[in-house]
Amino acid sequence: METVRSADEIRNWVESWRLENRSVGFVPTMGALHEGHLALVRHASQLADRVVVSIFVNPTQFGAGEDFELYPRSEEQDSELLQEGGCHLLFLPEPSTIYPDGHSTYVEVETPAERLEGEFRPGHFRGVATVVTQLLNLVRPNVAVFGQKDAQQLAVVRRLVRDLHLPVEIASHPTVREPDGLAMSSRNAYLAADERTAASAIYRSLSSARQRIEQGERSAEAIRHVLSEVLEREPLIDIEYAEVVEADTFEPIRRIRGSIVMPVAVRIGTTRLIDNFSLEVDG
Ligand code: AMP
Repeated sequence: METVRSADEIRNWVESWRLENRSVGFVPTMGALHEGHLALVRHASQLADRVVVSIFVNPTQFGAGEDFELYPRSEEQDSELLQEGGCHLLFLPEPSTIYPDGHSTYVEVETPAERLEGEFRPGHFRGVATVVTQLLNLVRPNVAVFGQKDAQQLAVVRRLVRDLHLPVEIASHPTVREPDGLAMSSRNAYLAADERTAASAIYRSLSSARQRIEQGERSAEAIRHVLSEVLEREPLIDIEYAEVVEADTFEPIRRIRGSIVMPVAVRIGTTRLIDNFSLEVDG
């Protein structure tokens, strides 16, 4: 595995592969890598001949008072994991490559970025859309892989790629979970032991809601109630939202049918966690 930091180096590597007729898969991350990220890398290597992974803790997607400074950074360990995990090229852009002096262009997606994460983290998706657009333009992959763990981000990226005619295929991979169901996340490292135990309620709430839908419940309000009820049983959890939305727009729905997502965001102590289930439901 090679490691590069500059725009010229990444362009040259990818260009050399293109001249050899090799396709390129890309997995953007913020590092502190876990099995979820590595599953995306394996998926990318099934879809393309060469795999590029970027690690960049993107300041513009963090709001004031969020965990940008605290966010776990483990470059050496990440590099070893990627080396073993089938990554060909690790791209570690300098902040000055992504945001040079005088940087003044941002990408703003409206639907599906306005609600939920967009409401609770103002400016978050503007930062995500801006960095993803830049990374796609720097790497120019054939396919980029994103996790369903961040379902709204995936919907935002799909919309951005479609609306801006970016020449890349967007692929996704299911959420990789701990044995008790908690979605793997770099932020799980923040949890104290009792908080970590409490966090498994997120998966239980989503599972209960899915079970009710499978049993025939079609009222979104009833399903929101199931999600909240299970989460509220856990005293360490504060709910930010527990919703049922349409999968492309992330608009709340009344009747459950078609492609839906149940996104949940909670706070446990000072840690904010998100998760979701996506479902295809017959009318
Ligand atoms: P992050 O480093 O948190 O920005 O995540 C980088 C990519 O990994 C995003 O596409 C995430 O959706 C994805 N990802 C994060 N956690 C998981 C997980 N537990 N399972 C699958 N994908 C994940």
